[in-house]
Amino acid sequence: MQLPIMSGHLEDDVLEQYALNRLVGANLDTVDDHLLVCQACQIRVAEFDEYVAATRPALRSLRVKKAGLPPFLRNVFISHGGPSITHVEAVCELLEVLDLTPVVSIYMPNLGLSIHDKVRKCMRICSSAVVLATPDDDEEVASQTRRTRPNVEHEIGMLQTMPNIGNRIVYMKDPKVESPSNYREKCWIPFDKDRASESFVALIKELRAFAL
Ligand SMILES: [Zn+2]
Repeated sequence: MQLPIMSGHLEDDVLEQYALNRLVGANLDTVDDHLLVCQACQIRVAEFDEYVAATRPALRSLRVKKAGLPPFLRNVFISHGGPSITHVEAVCELLEVLDLTPVVSIYMPNLGLSIHDKVRKCMRICSSAVVLATPDDDEEVASQTRRTRPNVEHEIGMLQTMPNIGNRIVYMKDPKVESPSNYREKCWIPFDKDRASESFVALIKELRAFAL
């Protein structure tokens, strides 16, 4: 039986069957192929996965899962300040060359979510992350604080609690930026957003160490 697919995306009941590990053969292949290229449906299936885990613990134990890793191994969450994003695009291009898929929240569909929920769900479909802590673009703000944008600091806290990401976080920081005390102890790779490529060798080394 061919699966019903509505407006190009997988229907809810299909995703539910997938989350319950009930699809086989061609149907499973169809869903896997779509999920490989559609981050919106990855987010939706991650939601079903959480729902199944929360409401049907008995079923969860029947599911085959890779220890600690989500099905979207090659997704890499990018945490960055804004609004200039030339350096983010440079990092995205590097990841794509490495056959990894960058997940940048602002490029993802909103799916009717709050900003916090959207960021959390984007993290949920990743197995690693790259933090780009750069000074605030606003010169006036930058002259008053040596901290990076608040959203980046907030996202670091969130990333550190995501079980699917674990320790697979690459911290990159402009030497001018001061880190808050709760993660000052992490090793940072120096990163200048106007010379992003100078940090790429170090970034590749870290990503390879994750063995994704
Ligand atoms: Zn889709």
